[in-house]
Amino acid sequence: MKIDILTIFPDFFRGPLDYGIVRRARETGLVEIAIHDLRAFTKDKHRTVDDRPFGGGEGMVLKPEPIFECLESFGDVASREARLSPDAKQSVILLSAQGRRFDQALAAELSTLDRMVLICGRYEGVDERISEHLADREISIGDYVLSGGELGAAVILDAVTRLIPGAVGNQNSTRQESFTEFAGESADEDAGEGARATPGVRATLGNGPSSTCGSGGLLDYPHYTRPADFRGMVVPEVLVNGNHEQIRSWRRKTALAKTLRNRPDLLERAALTAEDEELLDQIKLDPIKQDRDSQTETGQAPSLRKVGDLQKVDE
Ligand code: SAH
Repeated sequence: MKIDILTIFPDFFRGPLDYGIVRRARETGLVEIAIHDLRAFTKDKHRTVDDRPFGGGEGMVLKPEPIFECLESFGDVASREARLSPDAKQSVILLSAQGRRFDQALAAELSTLDRMVLICGRYEGVDERISEHLADREISIGDYVLSGGELGAAVILDAVTRLIPGAVGNQNSTRQESFTEFAGESADEDAGEGARATPGVRATLGNGPSSTCGSGGLLDYPHYTRPADFRGMVVPEVLVNGNHEQIRSWRRKTALAKTLRNRPDLLERAALTAEDEELLDQIKLDPIKQDRDSQTETGQAPSLRKVGDLQKVDE
């Protein structure tokens, strides 16, 4: 995918593109990212990119000319009409607090594009003619006002890049994350991170049970890694006993509990099975027990017997 970012602060992107998955995706050619300085498309000696708003009022507004001219300079962006067709492979996006709110489903949709152009606003915003005649959609990254579109562009770029096949070592991991409405039964056994874990602990650190546990639109379940006992905070015993069915059920239950606690709105849209409904009833009946079951992170000292058991597993 080719990604172009239009900004008056090109240096802003020095950090966000240089780490982890995005960096690797750039290095392997999965994404090609170009940053364009809007000031290079001005014609006056002060390189003016903004002006006062018609009708009066606070602040400054980004002028339309540099943005239009920058986009036109690419020479290979499809017409707006073509980009608005259902099977379009290109999108020109204006970052805006007034846009459609970005979410995982939109990230997945954008990850299928060949070309994405992100226009970053500043000051009071961007001349509305960009939204009316140049961009084919406006996207907001959340219900708050930022001082510029650059952070939003970095957020979209990151969320979209990691969904492009090949960007993440084990593609199954992006299918079972928070919000992801994939509840597939099994995943092809491609050798992921789990397969590289020490052979003896494959059952407890491998991706076996988790690969059958799509989030189905819920929040992700809690994750733990070694040591099994950290300062007396032990990982839930079920995760180290090697029983895949119990692990799967525990993960589903804790994902449901966390979603109920932090994002009950997601439950209304989630793909819930009869087993989920049953687990939810248990959680609602005994929320305190549920919290105790999954709350080693609170630092509560576990029983000595449990610590001993877990240490054996960790050795
Ligand atoms: N006056 C505008 C806010 C302008 S903030 C309003 O009240 O809606 C300046 C720029 O920051 C915007 O043009 C946009 O590009 C960016 N921005 C601000 N909040 C954003 C958000 N929630 N999501 C995406 N971009 C945002």
